[in-house]
Amino acid sequence: MKEQLKNDALQIDHILNMIKEQGSEYLKSIENRPTSIHQPFVAIQPELPASGYGTEEVLKIFNERFEPIMVGASGPRYWGFVTGGSTPASVAGDWLATIYDQNPQSVKGQGDISANIELETIQLLLNLLQLPKNFLGGFVTGATMSNFTCMAVARQWLGKEKGIDVAKDGLYQSLTVLGATPHSSSIKSLSLLGIGSNNMIRVKTEEGREAICIKDLEDHITKLNGEPFLLISSGGTVNTVDFDDFRAIKELKSKYNFWWHIDAAFGGFAACSDAYKHLVEGWEYADSITVDCHKWLNVPYESAVFLIKEQYKILQVETFQNSNAPYLGDPLEEFGYLNVLPENSRRLKALPAWFSIMAYGKRGYQYIIENNISLAKQFGELIENSNDFKLLAPVRLNTVCFTLRDDKKQEDVGRFLERLNDTGKVFMTPTFYRQHQGIRAAFVNWQTNENDFRLVFDIMNEIISELR
Ligand SMILES: *Cc1c(COP(=O)(O)O)cnc(C)c1O
Repeated sequence: MKEQLKNDALQIDHILNMIKEQGSEYLKSIENRPTSIHQPFVAIQPELPASGYGTEEVLKIFNERFEPIMVGASGPRYWGFVTGGSTPASVAGDWLATIYDQNPQSVKGQGDISANIELETIQLLLNLLQLPKNFLGGFVTGATMSNFTCMAVARQWLGKEKGIDVAKDGLYQSLTVLGATPHSSSIKSLSLLGIGSNNMIRVKTEEGREAICIKDLEDHITKLNGEPFLLISSGGTVNTVDFDDFRAIKELKSKYNFWWHIDAAFGGFAACSDAYKHLVEGWEYADSITVDCHKWLNVPYESAVFLIKEQYKILQVETFQNSNAPYLGDPLEEFGYLNVLPENSRRLKALPAWFSIMAYGKRGYQYIIENNISLAKQFGELIENSNDFKLLAPVRLNTVCFTLRDDKKQEDVGRFLERLNDTGKVFMTPTFYRQHQGIRAAFVNWQTNENDFRLVFDIMNEIISELR
C-alpha cells in the first residue's frame, strides 16, 4: 500500500495526463456514445486487493469492466428524466473542486476562501435568475435536498407560529400543508421531516392542467380559519412543465399567513429568457425556492441550491445549527454554512457553477435555455403533425410529453419506448398522464441541436412501422 501511494505521488503528472486524455476523448465523442446499454448486471468483484494495484493499473481495470458500458448521460440525446449536461467550464470547475478539496464553511476568521466563493456564486445565480438579493442561498446535492432544506425551515416557521420550537422539542402537533402537483421529492421531504407524506391537503388543479387552481386554493385557505400553513407550489411540473400563477399566489400572500415554497428545479431557468420569464413573474415574493444546477445550469452532478429569504435566517440556524459544538463557533454570531443546511462537510459544489456562469454569462445561458425551448417546440410540432403520435400536453417550455395517437394502442407505448431506447441513440422515460401511458423527452442539454431531434424522429417512425 505504502509503495503504491509513494509511486502514485511521484507519478501524479502521468496520472492526471492519462485522465485528461481519456476525459477529452470521451467528451469529444459523447454524441456517439450509446444512451443506454443492454448490459446485464456486472458481477461484483468480491476481492479486496491486499496491497493495491496503483492508479494506472486500476484505470485499466476500470476501462475493462465499466468504461465500455458508461452511457452518454451528459450527451445531446439523453432526454430521460430532466438530465442536464456539463459545460466545458463546469467540468473545469469540477476538476478543480476535487483537486483543491476545500470544505466551505465559514466566511471569515482563519478559515479558507471557499465559503466566499459559494456566497459569490449564489449572488451570480440570483442575478442570472433575476431574483433580488434578499435570499440566503447555499449548495446541496440536488433539488430533493433543496426542497428538504427549504421545507425544514418552513416547518420551524410553522411551529413558531403555533408556539412550538420543532427543532428543539420535536414535532408534537400536526402541521398544515397544501399543494396541487408537487414533485415526488417534496412528498418525500414531508416524510423525512416528520410532517407525514399523507398529510398534504390536495388542492385542485386548473381545468386540464397541472397548475394549482387559485380559486380552490383560496377556498381551502378560508376553511383553515387563519391556521398558518405551508404551500408547496410548482415552477415547472415534470410532466407538462406547468407553472402555478405566482402573481395570484403573491396576492393571496398579502391576505393570508403562510409559507410559500416554490419548487423551480428546472423551470426557474425560464427567467433567463425574455420571452419566457413571464412564467416566473412574482416568484421573488416566495419565502423559499428550489433550483437545480445539475439540470438546466448544465453543471455535473451533484448540484442544486436552496434560496431562503434572509429574514428567516434565525429560523434556519435554529433548524440546522450544531448547537452542542462550541469548537464550531456561535452559529448566530458568525455565519457558517454548516449551521444553515443539512450537511456539515461538503465539497466546493459552487465552483463548477461559478466557472460556468463566469464563462458563458447571461447571454450564454439565455442561448442554452432558448435553444432547448425552441428544440422542444419543434419536436413537439413534428409529433403533433404525425399520424402515429400525439402530444399529451402542449409544449410549454422544454419538455415534450406524448403518446401513440391511436388510443387503442396504449399497451404498445411501453414496447415502443423500449425499442426506441434500445437503439442507444436516444433515451426517454415513461410517464402516466391524464389516463394515458406517456413518454417524456426533456431538452436540457447545451449540446442538443436540430439534427438530434430530426434523427430521433426518423428512428421513431421506423420503429412504429415495425410495430404495425
Ligand atoms: C428533478 C426534480 C426534483 C428532484 O431533483 P434531484 O436533483 O433529482 O434531487 C425536484 N423537483 C423537480 C421539479 C424536479 O424536476
